[in-house]
Amino acid sequence: MNDDSPSIHPQSLRQSDLAETGGIGGHPQGLTTLFFTEMWERFSYYGMRALLMLFMVKTAAEGGLGFETKKAAAIYGTYTMSVYLLSILGGFIADNFIGARRAVLVGGIIIATGHFTMAAGSLATFYAGLVLIALGTGLLKPNISTMVGSLYRPTDERRDAGFSIFYMGINIGAFLAPLVTGYLAQSADWKLRLSAWGLDPAHSWHWGFGAAGVGMTLGLLVYLRQNARLAHVGHPPTPAANGSRPWGKLALVALGSLALILAMKASDEYPALVYGLFALQIAAILGFAFRPHPDSQRLAAILVFFFAAEIFWAIFEQAGSSITLFADRLTRNEILGWSFPSSYWQSVNSIWVIVLAPVFAWLWIKLGAKQPSSPMKFTLGLFFVSLSFILMLPAAHLTATGKVGPLWLVGLFFLQTIGEMLLSPVGLSTMTKLAPPRLVGLVMGIWFLAAALGNKLAGVLAAEFKSDQADQLATFFWQQALWVAAAAAVLLALVPWVKKLMGNVR
Ligand code: GLN
Repeated sequence: MNDDSPSIHPQSLRQSDLAETGGIGGHPQGLTTLFFTEMWERFSYYGMRALLMLFMVKTAAEGGLGFETKKAAAIYGTYTMSVYLLSILGGFIADNFIGARRAVLVGGIIIATGHFTMAAGSLATFYAGLVLIALGTGLLKPNISTMVGSLYRPTDERRDAGFSIFYMGINIGAFLAPLVTGYLAQSADWKLRLSAWGLDPAHSWHWGFGAAGVGMTLGLLVYLRQNARLAHVGHPPTPAANGSRPWGKLALVALGSLALILAMKASDEYPALVYGLFALQIAAILGFAFRPHPDSQRLAAILVFFFAAEIFWAIFEQAGSSITLFADRLTRNEILGWSFPSSYWQSVNSIWVIVLAPVFAWLWIKLGAKQPSSPMKFTLGLFFVSLSFILMLPAAHLTATGKVGPLWLVGLFFLQTIGEMLLSPVGLSTMTKLAPPRLVGLVMGIWFLAAALGNKLAGVLAAEFKSDQADQLATFFWQQALWVAAAAAVLLALVPWVKKLMGNVR
């Protein structure tokens, strides 16, 4: 995760001056390349994720794996956690061995291979595909994000806007993907076509997974064709004078990641482990906060954001698990007489991002210095995600009398997306500002680690999802809403303290 901005390479300044304005909205040309590459990568990730839970719980006759909800939710959690957790390893490999530019290429190739492996159809290829996608995403995701940062000089005012444009690319991919993969996997129309061609309609899921692979392949083509625009960023590190490489540390990071994945996986069996994890985080925050060094205090602030983000993602990332089941089993999936596959719901968050991101960009500019501080934005983010589950309370009760209308989920995604806008892009840029310069890569890894743990918790929590008892379902939603509201209240009380820890960073 090299933050080798053009200013660090004076020899390439003239060339990069040219490259600095030719892209989307007057941004560096390289941003266009990264925008489309990440758009297709996210297309593949969310296209596959939209099907994952459904494919696991559907019966063999429906073409699925016939897993219990509990088992499927555990696999969903461990897999989506690994995708984000391995970004620490991916960042380390880029920083110390191959550079971000090559890491994205290698990662993309591994991801595409993973999707095609998954499309092959046996249980073994299903698991092998998941492992490959997680490894590849670990290489691609953090490094493409830091390359966005590298396109700008440290003082360039366009940096935050650059990240917002990039976030838009993510969501265009995430919006389109479920429409394509969901159509192939679930629609009656496509199944009829398969039958007409003499193919087994129960294999429709594999067509969906295959489409995700095609998406990643398109991303790779864009990346390769337009790679010259990135010539000045993401270089491999200069090797040490004696040519040695930190193989020992690499082994340590790899083993550490594996150990963490296994420890978190154990929380499927022993949910109390999660409390241990929380206690550890609180201890770390206090440990850093009470050391006088400013770097230490900033790390404490980073860890507070980490904790809040983890709780936020634990609710938000249930979109792919419990909320997918709610959409599939308990919602009337039709609008104005048009019925659609349940996986289409996975597009709705992204539609809201595309609608709301410009509103928030405008709001922050309008509020200028009067805008809430980043800890306050995080507090509001938690509050909105809690509200989204409170909204589901009446919906859960209504399921006692049959399927509910589609507006409940539209509302849920609306509230969650407001929360996301307050937390996710803000988090990315706050992390890069708070990190001591030599630790930017590590801190970006920590940010994705919060997403990793949140994703695992999203699986742990979704394991309790019950679609046949309205009362229990209502309890499922209100208990989680209450926990998150409590977390928001604690963070609200801590805002002044966190601001102090942050020093002069806002
Ligand atoms: N939706 C965003 C993405 O896919 C953020 C996800 C996350 O950080 N948990 O990049």
